Amino acid sequence: MLRCWLLSKEGIHKPIQLPNLHAVVLGRGPETTIKDKKCSRQQVELRADYNKGYVKVKQLGLNPTSIDSAVIGKGNEVKLKPGQQLHIVNAQYPYTVQFKQDLSGMQREVKRPREPLPVNNESGQATSSNATKKNEREEAAVADSHAQVPKNTEGSGHWNQGLKVSMQDPTMQVYKDETVVVIKDKYPKARYHWLVLPWQSIPNLKSLRKEHCDLVRHMHNIGEQMIRQCPHSDSLRFRMGYHAIPSMSHVHLHVISQDFDSPCLKNKKHWNSFTTDYFIDSKDVLRMLDTNGRVSVKEGTSELLKLPLRCHMCHKELSTVPALKEHLKTHSECKMRTV
Ligand code: AMP
Ligand code: ZN
Repeated sequence: MLRCWLLSKEGIHKPIQLPNLHAVVLGRGPETTIKDKKCSRQQVELRADYNKGYVKVKQLGLNPTSIDSAVIGKGNEVKLKPGQQLHIVNAQYPYTVQFKQDLSGMQREVKRPREPLPVNNESGQATSSNATKKNEREEAAVADSHAQVPKNTEGSGHWNQGLKVSMQDPTMQVYKDETVVVIKDKYPKARYHWLVLPWQSIPNLKSLRKEHCDLVRHMHNIGEQMIRQCPHSDSLRFRMGYHAIPSMSHVHLHVISQDFDSPCLKNKKHWNSFTTDYFIDSKDVLRMLDTNGRVSVKEGTSELLKLPLRCHMCHKELSTVPALKEHLKTHSECKMRTV
């Protein structure tokens, strides 16, 4: 499998992968480690074309981005080929691009679930137990059999890195500011399902500390803003929270309407991940960070995904997901409140 990498010639950070035909926006920030205020947070947009073997570079920031000393100019786009040198801003921060075959990823790509399911270990990382690994492989196989997206068209890295690609993709973004971006969930589990992500690279809930309080509060406020701006916010109830054990890397706040009316909601794990204590309310995360400086996840949380299917409105137990979906229709006429 071919991959494209953006390499810092000064080695100031690890190579950044540029997925095929996806816009990646870079500038000042943790990903590049550039702190220079002359460099905009969104200085350049890079779009690799694996077939053509070059990367299109668009200058978004005010100060000059250049390729081999020729300034691109704000709003302009120029091709960057392997061997050429890109300076992100003011003839500083030199970069090159490299297209490289990555054979090691091929098998993993074939086996990856199309849509990641929450994994059943407390850390959200792969565990050392063979039995667990076997279970995860089985889960992946089940997820594969319910494939709902075209086979790996993204050309991105490991499947659990997908949010990092989507957050950079203008077609997925519905809001962004200096600190956060909101994207549409690619496999929405309800009529409205957004993810709020910080630009700062924070892997998961467990990495959050007291110093992230302001950021997490801002994510919460932006989530509330999304709900207020929703055309159906009068008739739909929303919840905002985090999966206790996320499957996708890069911390993200779910903002989801409580109709759960979506063809992407397919199985018990999906349902229980949003309707049991597996879903940790955004306010509870804020409270834990404020008081303990970290977010604690109760032992046995992964077991919640195996609970019987229960309606989140009237608590009636249903035997199958289709039966549950039929049942949910009986509630859809009732007016729901916004929380
Ligand atoms: P979790 O990590 O369990 O909190 O949930 C990850 C969420 O990301 C799920 O709701 C998925 O539907 C969604 N998702 C998975 N891959 C992508 C992607 N590439 N872009 C946007 N959303 C995604
Ligand atoms: Zn009910």
